[in-house]
Amino acid sequence: MSRQRILVVEDEPAIADTIVYALTSDGFDPHWCATGGAAIEAAHAGDFALAVLDVGLPDTNGFELFKRLQQEGALPAIFLTARSTEIDRVVGLELGADDYIAKPFSPRELVARVRTVLRRVQRSAVDTPTPSASGFNVDDERKLIRLHGRALDLSRTEYRLLKVLIERPGRVFSRDELMERAWDDPASAFDRTVDAHVKALRAKLRDAAPDDDPIVTHRGLGYSLREDRGN
Ligand code: CA
Repeated sequence: MSRQRILVVEDEPAIADTIVYALTSDGFDPHWCATGGAAIEAAHAGDFALAVLDVGLPDTNGFELFKRLQQEGALPAIFLTARSTEIDRVVGLELGADDYIAKPFSPRELVARVRTVLRRVQRSAVDTPTPSASGFNVDDERKLIRLHGRALDLSRTEYRLLKVLIERPGRVFSRDELMERAWDDPASAFDRTVDAHVKALRAKLRDAAPDDDPIVTHRGLGYSLREDRGN
């Protein structure tokens, strides 16, 4: 098995060194970036399994960076925060980050968290985007999603919306999260816009597979893709 690549974004070299050393010793392949800009470039070029993001960065903050990275595709993330105020943690988790860790932390604890998040993500991936398990097949190169073998005729936003849901079945995404991940300009979108797109998406899914209703509405919370769907 090849070593899993981890994106490490931390502007303090001493802390970055510690993280890189701990991850390397544990069999991972870490890639260190000192700025958000460098991290976005690296994410474009490389295939990462997870990102470790410092909240305080020179050119941006970890939360903004997380949002930018999610636009490239789902990337699990663990935040590093120096300010142990609850607000940082809550904000981080509301964004859909997978975990956070407060500085100072032990490198061993960080590596343990990385392993836990990867296990969780891989478990949910195992029983999803394969055609046999969920009925969905995402062809990212062609920007095409098939349901039970039938290509769906989706708008750009519908494609991105559905892809976000398919990548994490069972996970409830708030309207804000869906907007951040599927819209080019989230600031110009409204809550109702998400609902309208989900409605249109559901109609197209119904056309392709009348007996399948894969999107679940969580009232007051958002949407998720139904878990444990058969064929
Ligand atoms: Ca920092």
